[in-house]
Amino acid sequence: MEPTHIEHIGIAVNSLEQAIPFYEKVMGLKCYNVEEVADQKVRTAFFRVGQTKIELLESTDPEGPIGKFIEKKGEGIHHIAFAVKGIENKLREAESKGVRLIDTTPRKGAEGLDIAFIHPRSAFGVLTELCEDKSDE
Ligand code: ZN
Repeated sequence: MEPTHIEHIGIAVNSLEQAIPFYEKVMGLKCYNVEEVADQKVRTAFFRVGQTKIELLESTDPEGPIGKFIEKKGEGIHHIAFAVKGIENKLREAESKGVRLIDTTPRKGAEGLDIAFIHPRSAFGVLTELCEDKSDE
């Protein structure tokens, strides 16, 4: 896969309004974007930490993926996202190595990135996201 860096860490929270002040007032980061991803039934808030971002995820529907995650496990780290170049090829490469994919083709995530998830069963319990910022090119 040869990721270039960790693009973001996704953290499931009950409420953005409650969680944002921790990252702003305690961690001293600035929330630069709040965005709803209707497709994923979440509202997201982003903070930059160097090249990496923190993505807070608040569920907008108890039946959505974050709603179910919090119901089962509570708040906490939800996924780790690696930045890659040529995401389609990386997915084919992963498939050829027997990796179980949630998304066999990339879809649009927050911030206009092309994203795809690898199943946590193929990644030692970690929901792993690949993403590519094609606006870079
Ligand atoms: Zn993500």
